[in-house]
Amino acid sequence: MPAPQCASCHTARAALRRPRSGQALCGTCFCAAFEAEVLHTVVAGRLLPPGAVVAVGASGGKDSTVLAHVLRELAPRLGISLHLVAVDEGIGGYRDAALAAVRRQAVRWDLPLTVVAYADLFGGWTMDAVARSTAGSGRSRACCTFCGVLRRRALEEGARLVGATHVVTGHNADDMAETVLMNFLRGDAGRLARGGGLGSPGEGGALPRCRPLQLASQKEVVLYAHFRRLDYFSEECVYAPEAFRGHARDLLKMLEAARPSAVLDLVHSAERLALAPAARPPPPGACSRCGALASRALCQACALLDGLNRGRPRLAIGKGRRGLDEEGPRREPQPSLPPTSEPVPDF
Ligand code: SF4
Repeated sequence: MPAPQCASCHTARAALRRPRSGQALCGTCFCAAFEAEVLHTVVAGRLLPPGAVVAVGASGGKDSTVLAHVLRELAPRLGISLHLVAVDEGIGGYRDAALAAVRRQAVRWDLPLTVVAYADLFGGWTMDAVARSTAGSGRSRACCTFCGVLRRRALEEGARLVGATHVVTGHNADDMAETVLMNFLRGDAGRLARGGGLGSPGEGGALPRCRPLQLASQKEVVLYAHFRRLDYFSEECVYAPEAFRGHARDLLKMLEAARPSAVLDLVHSAERLALAPAARPPPPGACSRCGALASRALCQACALLDGLNRGRPRLAIGKGRRGLDEEGPRREPQPSLPPTSEPVPDF
């Protein structure tokens, strides 16, 4: 049976059915619709004002590649300028190849690129060194906990280095739904309640962050990359199989098979949840060591590095973190901090 006509241009043959709406579109009309939807997300959410210098967290993976490409297409209309910022976590056999993809993108799209490395920023610690250290203490599954916190800090540092006013990351709707599921599975009401929205406004001197692809499904991100013939790195990080996120991903796939709207339903559920007034955390303070926004005496990055430097990485995660709080009063977690574990592998 021949493919139906594109429901938008009515001239070309349709090349796909949109996963959510079932609309049959040709590749050109699909890409135009995808870009228009991202533009709407950015404009309606007032995420990137005209004149913004935007640091795009670039990992070489599909999400950040699509994000950089779409924003480059939209930049003239939005009146923004872009700068790719890549983080070298120091993961042998993985990150070098991914960074090569980012370098190719920077050249092809004529975008400035800055690479910041964990080893330079964090006193010589690379993720491979962290993995060896945490494995020694029986915490090899915690790699993503460390990496997520340090990468957030590294991206902030890189963005400041290039004079950015805003940071964007490539999290898509599936990533966000997985995060909501993980928070449910952990019973983490605080993070559930503050997990909505398209980003953080930049509290405590941090740069404003947003996720322009947050309402785009993973499938459509892949389709966009396919039809735009984007060159990206698709191998999984060597530490990813250990991550709890994988269980949430499997569960989400089952949920989506039974209920196609499950991904967006979960994303929107996070926007609608709110903590009871009595349960709301007090305003955050500043890290006693680096001055970054912190919910306790030390921010998460300083706490993790402190535990690593003491040779006691367990101190910095979970209940063990209590051991690091002798430097000042403890506060409850606050809104702009990332989840304490299992970040999204791609930016
Ligand atoms: Fe870091 Fe992602 Fe690898 Fe985890 S999966 S160690 S967060 S790069």
